[in-house]
Amino acid sequence: MANKKDEPLYCSFCGKKGFTEETGPLIIGPGCNICARCVNTCREILDSGKAKQEEPEPVIEKLLTPPQIKEELDKYIVGQDDAKRTLAVAVHNHYKRLLSARGSKVELEGTDFTDVEIEKSNVLLIGSTGSGKTLMARTLARILNVPFCIADATTLTEAGYVGEDVENILLRLLQAAENNVKKAQIGIIYVDEIDKIAKKGENVSITRDVSGEGVQQALLKILEGTVANVPPKGGRKHPQDEFIKVDTTNILFICGGAFVGLDKIIQRRIGHHVLGFETGKQALEEQEALESSKILKAVQPEDLVRYGIIPEFAGRLPVVTALDPLTEEDLMRILVEPKNSITRQYQKLFAMEGVKLTFKKEALQALARTAAEKGTGARALRSLIENMMTGIMFDLPAKADKVRECVIDSATVETGTPRYIPKD
Ligand code: ADP
Repeated sequence: MANKKDEPLYCSFCGKKGFTEETGPLIIGPGCNICARCVNTCREILDSGKAKQEEPEPVIEKLLTPPQIKEELDKYIVGQDDAKRTLAVAVHNHYKRLLSARGSKVELEGTDFTDVEIEKSNVLLIGSTGSGKTLMARTLARILNVPFCIADATTLTEAGYVGEDVENILLRLLQAAENNVKKAQIGIIYVDEIDKIAKKGENVSITRDVSGEGVQQALLKILEGTVANVPPKGGRKHPQDEFIKVDTTNILFICGGAFVGLDKIIQRRIGHHVLGFETGKQALEEQEALESSKILKAVQPEDLVRYGIIPEFAGRLPVVTALDPLTEEDLMRILVEPKNSITRQYQKLFAMEGVKLTFKKEALQALARTAAEKGTGARALRSLIENMMTGIMFDLPAKADKVRECVIDSATVETGTPRYIPKD
C-alpha cells in the first residue's frame, strides 16, 4: 500500500497496525498488505478439510508387461509358474483397463476402440493352505505400488447378521492408502477362504448367515463395482454415521481358497464328458493320469457353481488359476531362494551381531521334510525354523565376541544346538 514515509502500515485483512507484537511482520503487496497473524489464519483455513483440494488422480507409475510382472514375482515366490503367468496377464490387463477408462484414445488400422469398455478381471486362486496365495497377491500389490489389504471371508456376514460388514474391507484398504480415497480405488484386495462361504444347503441360523449365500451376494456388489458407503470408524453401519464413498469399480479383487473336494466335482464332469465321446477305457486311463492339482487346472465356472458358489459370483471371477501343491524340493527352495527368504532374514539378524550364519544343505532338507509331513505347505517352515532358532538367538549376544560363524546342520535340527566356529 502506497504510504507516505513514516506513516504506520496496516493489515488490509484485520485492519491492525503492522509490525507490532500482535500482528508480527507485514507483507506489503500492490494495493494491500497482510500481517503474519492473518497469514497463519489463512494457512489454517486452507489446511482444514473444507478447503482441501480434490485429491489428484493417482499416477500409475508404469504399465509393466506380463513378463516383467512375472519376473518380479519370481524374486519372491518359488514355483507356481502357471499361476504367476495367469496373474501377470490379468493384472497387466486390469491396469490397462484402468488407463483406458481415463479416456485415452485407442485406435488401430482405422478402428476406434476408445468406447469399448474392458471388463474387470477379478482373480480366483485355488490352492491348498500355505501354497503361496496370499504371498502372491501381496507381492503383486508391492510390485505395482498400490494399496493392499487382506480380508477373511469367514468373518464376513450379510448386513443384519452378527459379524463384519463387507464395507469394512474397504475401510482397511482405505487405511492402507493412508486415507487417500482415489489411491484406494485402484488398490488390490485379497479375500481369503472364499471357499468357506460356498452355499451349504439348508442350514438356517438367526444370528449368522451360515448358508454363505448372503455373504456372496454382499461381496458380489463390491466385486462387480459399486459406490460403497464406508463407515469411517469401521464396525456396523449406523444411519447417523458420515460415510466415506468408495468406488470399487477399479479395485482388483483376488480371491483365494483351498476348495477341498472341487477336484472330485471336476473329475466327474470330465469323466462324463470324455466318456460320452471316446472309448471308455482310454478315457479312464487319461483320467487316472491327471493328478488332483492337474484336475484343478481344468476348473470351469460350472464346477464352482456346483461347489456352492452362486453363478453371479463365479461370473465375476473370470480369471481362475490353480496353484501347485508344494513339494519337498519346493520347500527347500523356499527356505533359501526368495529375496527375503527366512534363512536370509536370520542371516541378517546374525550379521548385525557380526556372526556369519550358515545353513547346511542337509539341515534344509530335514526342515523341508518335516514341513512337508505337516501338510500345511510352506506355513510350517517358519514355525519349525523359529522354534529351532529361538534358543540359538537367545545365547547369541553373549557369544558374538568369540564366535565367527554359526553352522546349522542336521544335528542342529534334531538337538537345537548349532556348531560354533570361534574367531581365531
Ligand atoms: P496361502 O495363502 O496359500 O495359505 P501364504 O501365501 O500365506 O499361503 O503362505 C504362507 C507362507 O509360506 C508365506 O508367508 C510365505 O513365506 C511362504 N510361502 C508359501 N508359498 C510360497 C512360495 N511358493 N514361495 C515362497 N514362499 C512361499
